[in-house]
Amino acid sequence: MNLTALAAFSDNYIWMIDDGKRAIVVDPGEPGPVVTALDAKRLELAAILVTHHHADHVGGVDALRSRLQGPVFGPARETVPQPCIPLNEGETCEALGLRFEVIDVPAHTAGHIAFFNREGAGEPIVFCGDTLFSAGCGKLFEGTAEQMHRSLTKLAALPDATRVCCGHEYTLSNLRFAQAVEPQNEAVSRHVERCQALRAAGKPTLPSAVGFERQINPFLRCAVPEVIAAARAHGASAPGGSEVLAALRTWKNEFR
Ligand SMILES: [Zn+2]
Ligand SMILES: [Zn+2]
Repeated sequence: MNLTALAAFSDNYIWMIDDGKRAIVVDPGEPGPVVTALDAKRLELAAILVTHHHADHVGGVDALRSRLQGPVFGPARETVPQPCIPLNEGETCEALGLRFEVIDVPAHTAGHIAFFNREGAGEPIVFCGDTLFSAGCGKLFEGTAEQMHRSLTKLAALPDATRVCCGHEYTLSNLRFAQAVEPQNEAVSRHVERCQALRAAGKPTLPSAVGFERQINPFLRCAVPEVIAAARAHGASAPGGSEVLAALRTWKNEFR
C-alpha cells in the first residue's frame, strides 16, 4: 500500500492510499490533484472518505463521481455532498480491503470524524482532517475547548506508530507557537530544522506519528507542567486540560 499526500489549494493535503491498482482518497477539496494522481499511476478510484463538511475538504467530491467505482463515506452528523454513507463513532467502513474505524472528534466542526486503520496498510494510519495537526490543532469553529480536549485525547491514545495524516501543511507555523509555549522542548527545536529542510525541498512534513506528536504538540501536552505554566500566564483559568487547551487556542489565534 502506498500513502501519498496530494497538495491542493495553498496548503491542503488530499491523502491517497493505493495498492497499485485502486485508490482511496480522503477529503478531496478539489478534483484536479486527484485526477492527475489517478491518471499518472493508472488507478481506479475505489472510495472517498470525508472527515468534515468544509468546502476545502468536500469541494471535489461531486466532480470525482464520474471516476468513482465505490462509495463516499462521511460524517453522519454533517451536511456533505450526497449520496454519502453516514458514519458514527464505533462504526467501520471498508475500502481496498482496509477496515477503517470511525472516531468522533467534534470541535473544529460539530460532527467531525476521523478514520483509523489499525492494520493492513503497514503501520496504523489516522486521517484526522482539521482536528489534529502536526504540532497544533484545528480552530474551534463549531465546538468548545472541552470538546477539542476530549477529541485530541482520543487521537493521542492511538498507538504511538500511528501515522497522522492531517488536512493542512501548518507544521512550521505550529512549531513556532510550540516553541513559544515550551522554549526548552528540544524535540520541538530539532523538528523545526527537519521541517524547514523538508519544505525547502518542496516535501510535506507529514505524515507525523501519534507518539511523536505527544512529544511536540502543545495541544496534546496540556498536563505537562511547563505547558500548564505557559497557559496560566496566558489566561488559563485553571490547570485542567480543557482550561489549558482553551488558553493555548486563544493565544495561538493571536500569535504571529
Ligand atoms: Zn476545516
Ligand atoms: Zn481544512
